[in-house]
Amino acid sequence: MAKYARIASTGKPKVVIIGGGFAGLELVKSLRNAEVQVILIDKQNYHTFQPLMYQVATSGIEADSIVHPFRKVFESQKNFYFRMAEVQCIDTQQRLVETSIGLIRYDYLVIATGATTNYFGDAQMEKNAIAMKSIDDAISLRNTILDNFERALQLDDEEQLNSLMDYVIVGGGATGVELAGALTELRKHVFPKDYPELDFKSMDIHLIQSGGELLKGMSPEASKKSLQFLEEMGVKIWLNRRVKSYDGYTVTLDNGETLITRTLIWAAGVTGNPVKGLRPESILKGNRLKVDVYNRVEGYDNIFAIGDVAAMITPENPQGHPMLAQPAIQQGKLLGKNLVNLHHGKPLTPFVYKDQGAMATIGRNKAVADLKLFKKDIRSQGFFAWLIWMFIHLISIVGFRNRLVVMTNWFWNYFTYDSGNRLIVGKKQENIPITETITHKTVI
Ligand SMILES: Cc1cc2nc3c(=O)[nH]c(=O)nc-3n(C[C@H](O)[C@H](O)[C@H](O)COP(=O)(O)OP(=O)(O)OC[C@H]3O[C@@H](n4cnc5c(N)ncnc54)[C@H](O)[C@@H]3O)c2cc1C
Repeated sequence: MAKYARIASTGKPKVVIIGGGFAGLELVKSLRNAEVQVILIDKQNYHTFQPLMYQVATSGIEADSIVHPFRKVFESQKNFYFRMAEVQCIDTQQRLVETSIGLIRYDYLVIATGATTNYFGDAQMEKNAIAMKSIDDAISLRNTILDNFERALQLDDEEQLNSLMDYVIVGGGATGVELAGALTELRKHVFPKDYPELDFKSMDIHLIQSGGELLKGMSPEASKKSLQFLEEMGVKIWLNRRVKSYDGYTVTLDNGETLITRTLIWAAGVTGNPVKGLRPESILKGNRLKVDVYNRVEGYDNIFAIGDVAAMITPENPQGHPMLAQPAIQQGKLLGKNLVNLHHGKPLTPFVYKDQGAMATIGRNKAVADLKLFKKDIRSQGFFAWLIWMFIHLISIVGFRNRLVVMTNWFWNYFTYDSGNRLIVGKKQENIPITETITHKTVI
């Protein structure tokens, strides 16, 4: 018989939250004064600020400045209980969550498990590409980039050198655009100093986008300007192109053209990450859970979903809300109040998304911002947008220390044209053997 996880009962209704991302974190906060026992389950013991992960991958900031331990965030919240565990399944009949540390009983269950990388069923891509969905991914990408150059020093064959020095990024959304921009800045200002024996004029950065514009979903001005910025910075942009296959070395495009790289970064899409055990009818296309305007999962009284994993279909949002931090935060905040009202038999407030706009940064002094302030659309591209982008990201990072560390890093990087986090640490990426046909020249 499965055992129960050890969590002392406080006798109050148990609100079990799976996932401490933007949505889960905000929900815990909004239940601070509620007469409930809040149990947060996450497979990590920290919250990750995903929007800055690309800066960890490109050596701009330290990994630990964008993560924050849950126990620290909620150290003064009396009704808060945390268990680091992976949720395997839920038993909706018995009101139990099956986790890697045992069963956890709930009165109200909130699924806030976010999204996961979508390879659209391409197993070869999943095996060979690098994703950007977790802090481990970001560190692994940083290791790979730096390791590539260390290995390139030992080669003189042009194709093999290019395979290590060239990068292919798939997906022209914010992550792809931001990564491409950051890599070009490293190519210009940092790598030539670290590796004077390598010729960085031959380092190509390709950005492949299936549609005809970058940053789809943002204004036409933002799309056009980001394309212009990246082209000026020397990124090779392939619009209206899809990747057909990637075997870890050759990228084949849908028109038959090929590119050679050992590093393909997959930023082409995400899919919802629901937990097992729910009725199949509750799961929509895109693996998101169908919720009503109170974020209640269709078909259940006491199970809710918030954030990326939730799809609230309304006339204004026929595909559900965008998979961004703001809908997750706003849903988490409102659900806290609604759960208290539900418990006391009071009416619930329907969720209305307050769209505050979107932003992406391309490089030093270059960003695009479509903001909605006081019901007005404010669009900015360039230096001002870059300042806004930095300000909003700084105030959004969890933890004062983290904000200070990130700000210091940004100042340092800006004025010195340097970035101090060029370390190959932790689990190194597997050394992919260089093909035997290549002549190796030892450079001493
Ligand atoms: C690289 C990148 C850049 C981004 N940039 C931006 C940006 O600039 N602006 C913006 O608005 N949005 C951005 N986003 C999107 C934004 O981060 C998400 O929309 C947001 O994180 C969604 O919040 P969430 O709480 O739904 O899920 P998440 O923040 O993904 O949190 C999910 C949590 O659930 C936990 N979890 C998942 N499954 C389990 C399980 N089975 N058991 C236990 N725990 C589990 C995870 O460990 C995680 O802590 C970006 C995303 C990525 C990946």
